[in-house]
Amino acid sequence: MYTSYCVTNFLGKARTSTTSTKLSMTTHSLSSFLSSLSLLPHTVRDTEVPLLFREPYILSGYRPVGHSWSFYFLSLFQIHNETINVWSHLLAGVCVALRFSVFALMYGLGLYLDLACLPLVYYVLSLLAYLCCSATAHLLQSHSELAHYALFFLDYVGVAVYQYGCALALYFYSSDPAWRRSRVGEVFLPAAALLAWLSCACCCFAKLSYRHPYPLHRKLCQVVPTGLAYLLDSSLVAQRLFSRTWGDDPAMTLHTIQMLLFLLAAFFFCCPMPERFFPGHCDIIGHGHQLFHFLLSLCTLTQQEAVFEDFLSRRASLTREYGECRLLVAAVSFPVLVFCSVLTAVVMRRLVERRLRKEDRWGEEVERG
Ligand SMILES: [Zn+2]
Repeated sequence: MYTSYCVTNFLGKARTSTTSTKLSMTTHSLSSFLSSLSLLPHTVRDTEVPLLFREPYILSGYRPVGHSWSFYFLSLFQIHNETINVWSHLLAGVCVALRFSVFALMYGLGLYLDLACLPLVYYVLSLLAYLCCSATAHLLQSHSELAHYALFFLDYVGVAVYQYGCALALYFYSSDPAWRRSRVGEVFLPAAALLAWLSCACCCFAKLSYRHPYPLHRKLCQVVPTGLAYLLDSSLVAQRLFSRTWGDDPAMTLHTIQMLLFLLAAFFFCCPMPERFFPGHCDIIGHGHQLFHFLLSLCTLTQQEAVFEDFLSRRASLTREYGECRLLVAAVSFPVLVFCSVLTAVVMRRLVERRLRKEDRWGEEVERG
């Protein structure tokens, strides 16, 4: 009896001491983490960073260029002019992943993953890809000129993947048979793939070719292929909008809200507002690119709900409606599009690297006289 009391007492003390050791270790690592945050270099004004890193009408809140990668990773917890750009897409990514997990559990997607679910899985992966690429680019781009270019090329790969992931999901779950038989419907998927790749290639080209002060055609180069891809996707939703009664179609309201949010997001992407009217006053919070991120995140979450609704109403008849062959072609086309976009970004990165090396050499020669 006494022995068992001693053993229980000893085990109890051992457990308490283990808990207190763990607690003190956690407190120690938390305090060292907080002290490393306080040691991070302060943000600087636009005149203290190279021209490449400056944004129109944003005068302060820049992270200094040329520090270690760990500084830029830790700057996730620092206040600077990219903080909201990073967190808006990170949090949206978490919401997309959680919502899909709940949906997959509710409707048993994990257990019965079939061809009919594949466009949905690609769609969710494409959302996560664009949100993660964008958050990474905004978080780490200040490391160096090469990192800035390479990370924004990665961001454009995310844009292309997102565009094609949306096109696949909308085509298979949200389109009407009458629209699919139309001329646009017949060329929809190859055209969507081409425009997605063009968006990536044109954005990379515009980033590579134009420097401050940016001319108008830089923006056009970025916006036109993406705009055309959006018009193509919208044709499918618009046809449904005008051919059905809203009461019979719960996903229609979500598709309409999503379209409005996208148009508003596109407006803030194209126009540097409101910072144009208040230079220096929207540096940390409230500039146009942050509004674009926020609206695009809302648009993504709304569209995800609409696609889920459409998926549920089509899932049972999907393979019969399209045939396995068409679903298999779509299954192969998505990784091909990802590969082509990544390859384009890698080639562009090589071109930038070569150009920067040439500029360095030229600078050294000028210094030597
Ligand atoms: Zn962005």
